[in-house]
Amino acid sequence: MTPIELKEAVLSVKRWSRSDQRAPNKPIMMVYVLSRYLQGHEQFFLYEEVFHKEVQDLLKRFGPQRSVYHPEYPFWRLKNDGFWIVNNDEECKSRKSNTDPSKAELIKHNVTAGFNDQAYSLLKGNDQLTLELIELILSESFPESIVPDIAFQLGAELATRNVQKRDPKFRKEVLRAYNYQCAVCGYDLRMDDVSVGLEAAHIKWKQFHGPCDVSNGLTLCAVHHKAFDKGAFSITKDFKVKLSDSLNGGDQAQHLFFDFDGQLIRLPKKDNWMPNVGHLNWHQKEVFK
Ligand SMILES: [Zn+2]
Repeated sequence: MTPIELKEAVLSVKRWSRSDQRAPNKPIMMVYVLSRYLQGHEQFFLYEEVFHKEVQDLLKRFGPQRSVYHPEYPFWRLKNDGFWIVNNDEECKSRKSNTDPSKAELIKHNVTAGFNDQAYSLLKGNDQLTLELIELILSESFPESIVPDIAFQLGAELATRNVQKRDPKFRKEVLRAYNYQCAVCGYDLRMDDVSVGLEAAHIKWKQFHGPCDVSNGLTLCAVHHKAFDKGAFSITKDFKVKLSDSLNGGDQAQHLFFDFDGQLIRLPKKDNWMPNVGHLNWHQKEVFK
């Protein structure tokens, strides 16, 4: 296995087949393990409470809102993707049931897993390759506004930036449609005629085939863009701001967020520029917390 083959294997992990639904279990499991390698962890990880909790916390924080989180699924299922190996799995395989082993079973049988020998020998001592893989996986699963936050959470300092190519046409059209103002707060600072800190957000993420059309865009200031991509708020089908119950903060948070709860956003002038309701629904279902 070469580094390129490893990258290809990691990128072709079966997760995009699940159409529009966000399924970040495998990407999060992979970046968690890779980031632990950077910190000197050995090849295999024992499935234990601490491991379960750490991966679960990442899924809760960066994955879509779900009633339960299952870090045990990717731990087990990644073995079908060509670079992952599960050890002490005999007891789990000989079960009557055809379902994946539960967390309790993995713990009981001391099941361990990690990248296989070939992949691990490439990764061991090659921090550069490990970081590249982390960035590659994150960029395929999350919008660029929050990739650095996840990397930071993992303790991985990403050297390269902007792996994804921005679409300058999309940005220009979206900013124009919204009259160069944040759709939520109206922020519109300019230096002469150049907007500062104003961004074009995708409502449905590019990573899930959200199109680069104005109807899938929102002009947002940098603060509201990041908060939107993290699911701190969403926009309802009647174009009102809907805040997550998890939000809290002081005066500035009041001013930037709570004051806008339930308020109509600033909408574009033309009907065909209006935010697409299907994309808004996707955001509420898959991103909003
Ligand atoms: Zn704003």
